[in-house]
Amino acid sequence: MKLRRVGSEHIAAVGQGTWNIEASSRQQVVNAIRRGLDAGMNHIDTAEMYGSGEAERIVGEAIAGRRQQVFLVSKVLPSNASREGTVQACERSLQNLQTDHLDCYLLHWRGRYPLAETIAAFEQLQGAGKIRSWGVSNFDTPDLDEALAVAGPGRIDCNQVLYHLQERAIEHSVIPWCEGHGVAVVAYSPFGSGQFPKPASAGGKVLNRIAEAHGATVRQVALAFLLRYPSLLTIPKASGAGHAVENAAAADLTLTPSEIVQIEAAFPRGRKPRSLPMI
Ligand code: NAP
Repeated sequence: MKLRRVGSEHIAAVGQGTWNIEASSRQQVVNAIRRGLDAGMNHIDTAEMYGSGEAERIVGEAIAGRRQQVFLVSKVLPSNASREGTVQACERSLQNLQTDHLDCYLLHWRGRYPLAETIAAFEQLQGAGKIRSWGVSNFDTPDLDEALAVAGPGRIDCNQVLYHLQERAIEHSVIPWCEGHGVAVVAYSPFGSGQFPKPASAGGKVLNRIAEAHGATVRQVALAFLLRYPSLLTIPKASGAGHAVENAAAADLTLTPSEIVQIEAAFPRGRKPRSLPMI
């Protein structure tokens, strides 16, 4: 498994998302997460929002007895992200996850509370050993500038943002900003959250041709394309063990420069949007 740096840690380039896992059979999802861990996907991403805590509870069950293997990430909702509310939300997440610390705690997206409040809470939680590091999510460059001004350099470990073949907006300025400041980029919804290119589409055919050349799958090609940036990690969600194992193997696939050019042409980056897309 290819590793990528997040703060002072090196963790799996391909990790595991958990949005909507509570919609599938609990046993199947617990098994998928465990098989994903066996395959090296030690980065598990969850949030208090997902299933109103149910996704965290399922993750807690899946990692019971294996906590030390996991780089565990959860997120505070913006509506809870006051100084006091963030600390309380973290305590609830720890309870749901049946653990005494998170490896990284993120602000899910910007809301009404001043960043200084949320960041002060993150620093307090880190000082108390409840979180090992913190980061942000859905932050465009002006938000990142503001967070950097509040926190100082070297404090923001990652920015989790939307990135897939058909949504390449972060390439314009978010990735360069993060690379320039040592902030890991975590690509969420790497398969377009259910909008993966159809096999018969022009782009789908390009993916298929490249996949065949490597004896790989089109999903693996899609993940390998995102991972061409050395600062980048990704967190596909899989609710079955087969998908989890397939996704893990994508970390070992390296595309040639010519294949990358073909994929870039099939899924053009487009112009820089006014605001950062998110879902
Ligand atoms: P995604 O990972 O882009 O796509 C998930 C879909 O792809 C599911 O339908 C899944 O099906 C399918 N899939 C997964 N592996 C597959 C494979 N190998 N072959 C075929 N289909 C496969 O969607 P996402 O859940 O939106 O994003 C991933 C994670 O990012 C989330 O779970 C969450 O942790 C995080 N996220 C963060 C934010 C944020 O605001 N920070 C927003 C959205 C998502 P099965 O379930 O049947 O396997």
